[in-house]
Amino acid sequence: MARFIFITGGVVSSLGKGLASAALGALLQARGYTVRLRKLDPYLNVDPGTMSPFEHGEVFVTDDGAETDLDLGHYERFTGVAARATDSISSGRVYSNVLEKERRGDYLGKTIQVIPHVTNEIKDFIRIGEDEVDFMLCEIGGTVGDIEGLPFFEAIRQFSQEKPRGQCLFMHLTLLPYIKASGELKTKPTQHSVKELRSIGIAPDILVCRSEGPIPVKEREKLALFCNVRPEAVIAAQDLKSIYEAPLAYHREGLDQAVLDAFGISPAPKPNLARWEDVVDRIHNTDGEVRVAIVGKYTQLEDAYKSIAEALTHGGMANRVKVRAEWIDSGIFEREDPARHLEGFHAILVPGGFGDRGTEGKIKAAQFAREKKVPYLGICLGMQMAVIEAARNTADLSNAISEEFAGGADPCSFTPVVYHLKEWVQGNAKVTRKKDDDKGGTMRLGAYDATLVEGSKVAQVYGTTHIEERHRHRYEVDIAFREQLEAQGLRFSGLSPDGRLPEIVEWTDHPWFIGVQFHPELKSKPFAPHPLFADFIRAAKEQSRLV
Ligand code: GLN
Repeated sequence: MARFIFITGGVVSSLGKGLASAALGALLQARGYTVRLRKLDPYLNVDPGTMSPFEHGEVFVTDDGAETDLDLGHYERFTGVAARATDSISSGRVYSNVLEKERRGDYLGKTIQVIPHVTNEIKDFIRIGEDEVDFMLCEIGGTVGDIEGLPFFEAIRQFSQEKPRGQCLFMHLTLLPYIKASGELKTKPTQHSVKELRSIGIAPDILVCRSEGPIPVKEREKLALFCNVRPEAVIAAQDLKSIYEAPLAYHREGLDQAVLDAFGISPAPKPNLARWEDVVDRIHNTDGEVRVAIVGKYTQLEDAYKSIAEALTHGGMANRVKVRAEWIDSGIFEREDPARHLEGFHAILVPGGFGDRGTEGKIKAAQFAREKKVPYLGICLGMQMAVIEAARNTADLSNAISEEFAGGADPCSFTPVVYHLKEWVQGNAKVTRKKDDDKGGTMRLGAYDATLVEGSKVAQVYGTTHIEERHRHRYEVDIAFREQLEAQGLRFSGLSPDGRLPEIVEWTDHPWFIGVQFHPELKSKPFAPHPLFADFIRAAKEQSRLV
């Protein structure tokens, strides 16, 4: 049966709770244990699928087709364990499950209350698959004291009481602000936060304290005394240059040892940190820099393309170059010549997106990359834009468009090279989508197989002709245009196994121009960079030697 680690936060949000959880997961793996990480989010949306990326950062899609919190991406990148739909839950989902049961009469006429019905629902969620791993790490979103978070805190308190002693551990992440004028690190906010946690019945075993510099012995002892933890269990989380330094940094601080001590595991298995030493070495020992332009819509908030930013970094690590990603709002190209903005970049990436704002600019970026022979990676919408560009500018289909942007236009006035798919095959099953389905439920979501054309660029990049990648989209490139576009040199080099859905396109007379309907960035890891990103950056590195 698993041991449980509950990770909570205090003082302020955005302290890196997800990263601390992911790094701890990686350290436990380095000691030979199996782990699974979960996120419990107090917001009332049922899932982040319909939340704006401006609000909440990117939506991370799992193999089994769940639209989840971006923290699951961190978990996967650090542990390599593929996240599942059952690794993320929100208050919205909890309440929706409870209300569904109530309507079905499952509660036999009882009055439905937060305790026990909501808390039981949360505990059932935490228990899913508890026999499968050695450690289950559950991160509670938000900070202690938030109104929405209370049922979650109550549920984990009850949970730890129900388990045998020594089976659950609480780790609390806080901030130690540094007051420049007096030159002091302040422990008071942490003391208050722990007090708040204890007032709801949770006594933390480990304190992870985010601070700009090291924590002096005096402050460490003070924190231990006032917060009732052992001094060795006060762990400093200092600012790092790269998030991938976190596992080694936390190890040096003694986090994994403190966790094993708290569980009474002695002697602790020795860690093998070779994977993370290699990762850090690749970050620090680089030869040169490549500049990649990311031409998209959500450029104000980097978290909106979190996995893409990370996958590019991994591509850099594979090639030992530093990747400088610069975000460009595609709207600019609708008014100004893209050359002015894109010259000097060694590669162009057009990421996924929804809605028509900025799409004409993305089409211009694809055209620039094709004509100037700059490496181009189009992801999802970025592939669709490349196909529209090819249709318009090389195949004489000047009114080519995606149905997504056609609005109420007369269907005879445009050519929908990208159309709204209503029925497709997943494994052996047929999936049908209806017009009035929920917004959250109308997409081709999760892992799908694709077959690559023998001898194509992508087959060479992947080193195989059979792949499985994650999807999140409503629209598809129309296979009917294959012949016409291939005649121009845009090869349909990856297809769904039934041959109906184009999964990958590539320009044959171009050094590196690939569009993919899926999201390769979701599967890239620092210790296993995704082949498409590794090769894209290799091509960018070559390009950097040319310009
Ligand atoms: N909006 C496009 C579609 O739904 C692309 C989606 C995406 O890029 N994830 O097909």
